[in-house]
Amino acid sequence: MKGAGSSYDELVALRSKTVFERTTLLAASGDRSRLDMTAAHVLSLLERFPALYREAWATPSNAARPFARDGFDVGDGWFKLVDRLSAKLAVDPSNHIDQLKEKWGRLAVYFEREESVPRDLSLDAEMEAAINEAEEESERTCLVCGEPGTIGKRGRWVTVLCEPCVQLFEIAETCRSIAERLEGLDLAAFSANETILDAIRMELVYLGHAAAGQPPASRARLPGIDWERLDQLRETKAVMVMPVGDLWRFAIEEASVLGRKLR
Ligand SMILES: [Zn+2]
Repeated sequence: MKGAGSSYDELVALRSKTVFERTTLLAASGDRSRLDMTAAHVLSLLERFPALYREAWATPSNAARPFARDGFDVGDGWFKLVDRLSAKLAVDPSNHIDQLKEKWGRLAVYFEREESVPRDLSLDAEMEAAINEAEEESERTCLVCGEPGTIGKRGRWVTVLCEPCVQLFEIAETCRSIAERLEGLDLAAFSANETILDAIRMELVYLGHAAAGQPPASRARLPGIDWERLDQLRETKAVMVMPVGDLWRFAIEEASVLGRKLR
């Protein structure tokens, strides 16, 4: 998609809370351990299937145009299956995607055909089948990384994740929980509060266990993390005898940083 009014930069400039910024908004809000579709993948879909995604150019504030508002509201792990589905749907240029999102952990595709174009029933059936197939495939595809996964409730969300991503999710959740407990506390209050101290110790042990379960492939995905240090945390005794200052430093300096890195 080239030409005036349709460059990626111009599209980004036009939007406030659309797909292009949602990635950062979600990461900043910190309430979902998932990775939205990357800008490069979004751009690739928009450029290759401009008619199918023509709603991307509509006014995002218009609630009647959910694709314009929410864009590719799915994890990056589903890029390949969305890409394959797009190629099938784009065969008929009268088609467009009305909405594309994750619903109860599964891909949900809402799709429209131009009313004025005569219908081809066999083509319609093919499109329906392609959508069903993609939606079923999404139930077995990790929405973070695209590896085989299973659907289940993780935290507050029903999500499809692979095993390594489940463990990363647990690490991120633990870091988030530590950061939440510390909010508004200073070191003096932290040292005096036995309940918080115990809770943080338990979180750190849990964090160590989750880190120890990380296979090499998922460790390699997050090279900025001191895995050795995280592995040591699973030793219950070591954490329990850790001086308050060390516990505090870890919780303050590292937990929130780790949580951000894992999103
Ligand atoms: Zn995964």
